[in-house]
Amino acid sequence: MTNEQKFQIRKLRQGNCSYSNIASTLGVTLSAVKGYCQRNGLAGVRAVTEATPGSAISCCKKCGKEIRQRPGIKEIKFCSESCRQSWWNAHQDQVSRKAVYKYTCACCGKPFSAYGNAHRKYCSHPCYIKGRYGGRDAQ
Ligand SMILES: [Zn+2]
Ligand SMILES: [Zn+2]
Repeated sequence: MTNEQKFQIRKLRQGNCSYSNIASTLGVTLSAVKGYCQRNGLAGVRAVTEATPGSAISCCKKCGKEIRQRPGIKEIKFCSESCRQSWWNAHQDQVSRKAVYKYTCACCGKPFSAYGNAHRKYCSHPCYIKGRYGGRDAQ
């Protein structure tokens, strides 16, 4: 685990967050969270019982405050707009590193980047049309 994750565990735990919620919020294993809490005096802090499967409570990814999820509505990850914004600001590099792909256009040879799409071959739709059908039609 990274120091950032350890710090978050501590914070989420103090926000009365369950092990399983912390694990899913931070993307680490349940046993890693439990082990860390037990070694660092963070076990048993929580008065509320562990989240049962299908439980509608999760934690703010930023401050660890409990969020009651409403069934049928997309999961809420942050307790407030300001938490959401400061989390995204802090993780921007991480987020964009994941989502941007760099390519060279298979038609015009121009380099370009695409967000969240790993299967682009052409920089633009005209290039796509040209690259795909142009050669054949030109003969
Ligand atoms: Zn929050
Ligand atoms: Zn192109």
